[in-house]
Amino acid sequence: MQIVILAGGVGGSRFVSGARSAYPEADISVIVNTADDITLHGLRICPDLDTMMYTLGGGIDSERGWGRTEETWRVKDELAAYGVEPSWFGLGDLDLATHLVRTQMLDAGYPLSAVTAALCTRWLREQPQLRLLPMSDDRVETHIVIDDGSGRRAIHFQEYWVRLHAVPDALDMVRVGIDQATAAPGVLRALADADLILVGPSNPVVSIGPILAVPGIRAALQSAQAPVVGFSGILGGAPVLGMAHRLLPVIGVEVDAAAVGLHYGARPAGGLLDAWLVDSGDAAAARTATAAGLPTRAVDLVMHDPATTARFIRSGVDFGLSVRAQRMQLGQVRDAS
Ligand code: GDP
Ligand code: CA
Repeated sequence: MQIVILAGGVGGSRFVSGARSAYPEADISVIVNTADDITLHGLRICPDLDTMMYTLGGGIDSERGWGRTEETWRVKDELAAYGVEPSWFGLGDLDLATHLVRTQMLDAGYPLSAVTAALCTRWLREQPQLRLLPMSDDRVETHIVIDDGSGRRAIHFQEYWVRLHAVPDALDMVRVGIDQATAAPGVLRALADADLILVGPSNPVVSIGPILAVPGIRAALQSAQAPVVGFSGILGGAPVLGMAHRLLPVIGVEVDAAAVGLHYGARPAGGLLDAWLVDSGDAAAARTATAAGLPTRAVDLVMHDPATTARFIRSGVDFGLSVRAQRMQLGQVRDAS
C-alpha cells in the first residue's frame, strides 16, 4: 500500500509517527511544507523538514517538539557574545551540523529534494519505506503583514511566530515565490500513484495551505484515484498547539473544525476531501460539516502517542473508504480497479 501524507512540522510529524504505526507495511511518502524555510547566519533552515526527519529518525527533543535531543547551545551563546542578530532564533550545536550540510549541498547546486534525501540516508536509513518530499525545490516563504505602530510591514513567518509569538494581529499573508514554484520531483507522481492520501492535522494556513498552493498540487489531489481523508487540528475551537487561531482569520476561515474542513472542501463539490475527521468533542461540527456536504465523523483526535494516533487514523481511513464505497455504488466516482 502506498500512502501519501501532507504535513507540517510538530503536529505533522506526530501524525506521521501514528500512520507508520497504523500501517507498518505501507510505503509512506510525506509531502512536507517548506514555506517556513528561512536563511539565517547564511544557513538555509527548513524547520518542518527537520522536525519531521528528527522525529521519525528518533533524534527529536520530544519535550520541545523541535530540534535535537541532548542539544547544547554554545554556538548560539557565542553569536550572542558578538551581538550578532537575529538572536531570537535558536540554532543548537547539533542542529547546526544539519544546516551546514544542507547549505553546502544547496550552494553546490543540489535541489532541496536531493539534499533532503541525502540527510535522510542518515536518519531514515532503517526505514526505507518512509520518504520525505519537500513540497517544492523552489524557494517559497510565508510572510505575515503586521502593523507595529510604525505602519504596515511584512515580516517572515518565523519572525512573527518565534520572535513575536504571534501577538500582533496578522493583517495579511503573502506566500513569496509560490506562483513560480513547481512541485518537487516525485510529489505529483506520489499523489497519482497513492492508494490513500491523508491530510494531517497540521496548520491549515501555514503548513497545509502552502502545500496546496504550489501550482499543480491541488489539481493532483483532486484527480487522484485514492481516497483523501483529512484530520482536524482544531479541537473545541482552538489549535492543540501553535498559532492557527491567529492566522485562520487572515484567510477568512473561522477557528472551528467544521469551517476548516469546509475550507478544504468536499471532493464532489470541487474540494479535496472524501472524508473529514473532527474530535469527539466536536460532534456538532461533524453534523454541520456533514450537512454541508462533507462526510464528517467525530473521534478522539488527541495524539497522546503513536498508538493512539494510529487508532484514530485507522478509523478515519475506514470511514473514508466507506464514503468512497457508497459513492461508487451511486456511480459518483470511477472505479480505480
Ligand atoms: P508546525 O509546523 O510545527 O507548526 O506543526 P504542524 O503545522 O504540522 O502542526 C500544528 C498543528 O497540529 C496545530 O494546528 C495543532 O492544533 C495540531 N495538533 C497538534 N497536536 C495535535 C493533536 O494532538 N491532535 C490534533 N488533532 N491536532 C494536533
Ligand atoms: Ca511549520
